[in-house]
Amino acid sequence: MTDEIPLSHPDITDAEIRIVTDVLRSGRLSIGPYQQEFEEEVANRTGRTHGIACSSGTAGLHMVVQAMGIAPGDEVITTPFSFIASSNVILYAGATPVFVDIDSRSLNMNPASVEAAITPKTKAILAVETFGNPTHMDTYRAIADRNEIRLIEDACEGLGGRYKKRPIGSFGHAAVFGFYPNKQITTGEGGMVVTDDDRIADICRSLRNQGRDPVHDDTEVARTGSWLTHERLGYNYRMSELQAALGVVQMNRLDEIVSMREAVARRYIERFMATSDLIVPTVDADTVMSWFVFVVRLSDQYSAEERGRIIDGIRRHDVGAAAYFPCIHLQPFYRERFGFKEGDFPIAESISNRTIALPFYNRLTDRDADFAAQTMELMLSRENIRRT
Ligand SMILES: *Cc1c(COP(=O)(O)O)cnc(C)c1O
Repeated sequence: MTDEIPLSHPDITDAEIRIVTDVLRSGRLSIGPYQQEFEEEVANRTGRTHGIACSSGTAGLHMVVQAMGIAPGDEVITTPFSFIASSNVILYAGATPVFVDIDSRSLNMNPASVEAAITPKTKAILAVETFGNPTHMDTYRAIADRNEIRLIEDACEGLGGRYKKRPIGSFGHAAVFGFYPNKQITTGEGGMVVTDDDRIADICRSLRNQGRDPVHDDTEVARTGSWLTHERLGYNYRMSELQAALGVVQMNRLDEIVSMREAVARRYIERFMATSDLIVPTVDADTVMSWFVFVVRLSDQYSAEERGRIIDGIRRHDVGAAAYFPCIHLQPFYRERFGFKEGDFPIAESISNRTIALPFYNRLTDRDADFAAQTMELMLSRENIRRT
């Protein structure tokens, strides 16, 4: 046992352990009743007609991009300040990601920049609820509708949140959730597409299951032979019953989970609010955050190098800390392929150089949160002494 305070930690109770054990004893380990139940739970929660469970958030986004017919030559407008998957899925389809800069309050794409980036080649806007913040989602949807293009909502960081009384996951023509262990709820690995569009739902169900006709998404037809009919080039993006059962129990606890995370975030915010060297996340009045991570930003006088030293110092005290997120356009692969360079998206870069994620999970104790915050403050004062 170490006393390390990790960056994130999944919240697994006896109920989760019991249900996974039940699935193991049942002998039905894939395509079963828990998949359907989990899909219905997430679809209901987000006010959607369809839920399509899959193997990861990335797989879900990939299927949506493909179901919308996005192909080589098409452009998709997206954010450079995100986890790399939100942009990689555009490349999977052979299409071109068109990055636009973010607004410094919400850390989501600036709507005016989105509008300005639309060309005759634009097929979709792929918007991310950065760190769980849904600000501007309605505006992106209005822009998409006005221009007769699609809005893909990458809701992988936002399950359980609301914006202007609408649930996160209800804004896009399709939305995708992710259930990796650091997300609000986890299935180990996993994802879910939600949509009201029957056609997108059918294609996603087919793509996840080797291109089979979605009505044959059932073990019954294995006998008849139609199990071996493949309508299109598909993938194996299925979610197992062990994962889906875990998801059902976690979904039942979602409200509790969201409020536990809210309490941890509030504690950090109250403590850091008075520190002029730190910028805490701002949450608009019409937003109910579902906190994905807790990220503070160093004020503008700090350099990326100083941020690096602060993160190293925090870690030396056995407290988790990380730079969330490095800009996608500055990743080696994107620089090489598209020629992106420093200065292309100045707001995203400036923020990305100064953000620090701190330990954040449901059962983070007050004592550990306070220790993490105190360690952060200690590192700030060391940097200040260094400067003088
Ligand atoms: C977590 C995440 C995903 C999906 O991640 P998987 O690990 O594939 O489930 C996609 N987009 C964003 C913005 C994410 O944070």
